[in-house]
Amino acid sequence: MSEQKSEQKAKIALVTGGNRGIGLEICRQLAEEGCMVILGSRVPVRGIEAVASLKNAGYENVRYLHLDINDPETHIAAYDTIEKDYGRLDILINNAAVSIDGTHKVNTVPLSIIRDTFEANFFNLISLTQLLLPLVQKSPAGRIVNHSSILGSLTYHSMPDSPIKQAKAFAYNASKTALNAFTVHLAQLLQGTSVKVNSAHPGNVRSDMNPGGELSAEEGAKTAVELALLADDDPTGGFFYREHILPW
Ligand code: NAP
Repeated sequence: MSEQKSEQKAKIALVTGGNRGIGLEICRQLAEEGCMVILGSRVPVRGIEAVASLKNAGYENVRYLHLDINDPETHIAAYDTIEKDYGRLDILINNAAVSIDGTHKVNTVPLSIIRDTFEANFFNLISLTQLLLPLVQKSPAGRIVNHSSILGSLTYHSMPDSPIKQAKAFAYNASKTALNAFTVHLAQLLQGTSVKVNSAHPGNVRSDMNPGGELSAEEGAKTAVELALLADDDPTGGFFYREHILPW
């Protein structure tokens, strides 16, 4: 089969923030599953190097795409490239995020930090998703995975013996709560169509964002990859960590 024909048959997957951490491992696992993986990266050299590392590991079905969540021009260019080369998008993994609270608590965190966090983790993620949605709707089985966090769970934060009571980075946590709201609303809008929208929590994963994490990126990528490859009778509009349903 020619390379172009096999790409048309493979699921086309875009992963934002695919150049490192859990995002890079999601790219690897989707490539392993036979997807044509578009690895989004805001800094070209990082994306190009990440794709080279995957190709060196034997994954040919990966390509780089310049995609800065905070730069709308790169959103439009991404739409144009995917539209022109594939005509559809089967999987969108909204993985890119920032965590910039530092040591601030909710009573001191500057609004600028809250705004910058929401720009990347919420507003611009929504704007990219809205733009790409028509391409996802052209897929016979579109899957949108919002990489959220258990730290966005208001239910857990409200529990007296909360397992996340030490994790109070307000701007980051609230951005993930808001992202979960986007998941619920978008999934409900698309109910009964071929598109599923879910939130994923990867676990407590070692990465630049979370150097003290317990799990490997390989473990951390699994939830998002499973949600990306859901069957038609699987759920939409949920919040998952592996097989566990998490409370909003
Ligand atoms: P990470 O290692 O810090 O990676 C973050 C990725 O996001 C990087 O590729 C980064 O690109 C990208 N990014 C940041 N701002 C961007 C922008 N404006 N445009 C495009 N890409 C941008 O974090 P991670 O631990 O792998 O986290 C991945 C996802 O899992 C995030 O959504 C995070 O909130 C979520 N999560 C992680 C954990 C955990 O324990 N690690 C737990 C719960 C949820 P650059 O290299 O260019 O900065």
